[in-house]
Amino acid sequence: VTYRANAKRYEAMTYSRAGRSGLRLPQLSLGLWHNFGGDTPHDTKRAMCRRAFDLGITHFDLANNYGPPNGSAEEAFGTVLRTDLAPYRDELIISSKAGYRMWDGPYGEWGSRKYLIASCDQSLGRTGLDYFDVFYSHRFDPDTPLEETMSALDQIVRSGKALYVGISSYPSTATREAAAILKRLGTPFVLHQPRYSMLDRWIERDGLKDTLEELGVGSIVFSPLAQGLLTGRYLDGVPRDSRAAQSKTLPQAAVSDEAVRRLHALNDIAKRRGQTLAQMAIAWVLRDGRITSALIGASRVSQIEDCVGALSNTSFAQDELAEIDEYADE
Ligand code: NDP
Repeated sequence: VTYRANAKRYEAMTYSRAGRSGLRLPQLSLGLWHNFGGDTPHDTKRAMCRRAFDLGITHFDLANNYGPPNGSAEEAFGTVLRTDLAPYRDELIISSKAGYRMWDGPYGEWGSRKYLIASCDQSLGRTGLDYFDVFYSHRFDPDTPLEETMSALDQIVRSGKALYVGISSYPSTATREAAAILKRLGTPFVLHQPRYSMLDRWIERDGLKDTLEELGVGSIVFSPLAQGLLTGRYLDGVPRDSRAAQSKTLPQAAVSDEAVRRLHALNDIAKRRGQTLAQMAIAWVLRDGRITSALIGASRVSQIEDCVGALSNTSFAQDELAEIDEYADE
């Protein structure tokens, strides 16, 4: 059946400006790191993308290595574009990245010009896109001159393969250097993508959150649910179909008795707020208006629906924040 997007898709979603750029992102974005590879039925992937877009989620986040196998998430999203979303291309923000190991040999990872440009071309090929809206350097490469990595991003924009660029997980100091280079080159640097959740506050400690505000660069934070820990998923054990049971990226050891005790305490606070734990975790990253978008993952449509519900209450009383601090990362 031909997909027709929900006519009311823009009524409920809020779109926030990425720093001081012209780009606005939905406060909730959908990432395709997990549950978008060969191990997930295509119908599930398709249903999640369609439902997300119907809810006003205009941004989908990819990387060269998402799968498994590597590349298969981009291929699957390309299929969803062809069958469903292509008529809405100008309503979508689609990103990809290069930085982690993608192919053998010295040119298959990190930050060289050789790798970034070849990888971007491969990603365009797999998705069938003419351009990405945002293309990222996926990780800081300590052994490649930052000038080289940034000038490769600049060339990707100048050759029409991306509209904007971003960097992911760069510490504050390298972010400042990257921003200065990109400013000199005239490259539209609009987004930083770091990890941020109640269980991982490194961007506060490192000063990155302040740095981005000062630079006027937007922030889209990944794993706001700590890969599913900050949801109802693990309150009563480890479900067989959960990430902790199935994937190396969230080891079962993370679901320790101590962790579950904290999750219950946080869940009690969420209940008092009339939210699910997942909703409170998303609201918390958005609480001070300084984060552009929370970038979630999902294994089913109902999770996306639940997460969108977070956006109706993203403000916290001081005592709620203080109570959360007792159980959160320091
Ligand atoms: P989350 O912290 O949002 O974890 C997602 C998982 O949480 C889901 O797979 C699901 O687990 C569970 N979940 C989601 N919503 C609910 C809900 N409402 N109720 C119960 N459980 C829920 O994010 P991810 O770790 O998946 O990362 C999100 C995106 O961020 C990635 O897809 C990717 O685009 C990006 N990312 C970027 C990185 C980078 O280096 N730049 C690194 C990592 C991620 P389950 O599958 O068990 O059902």
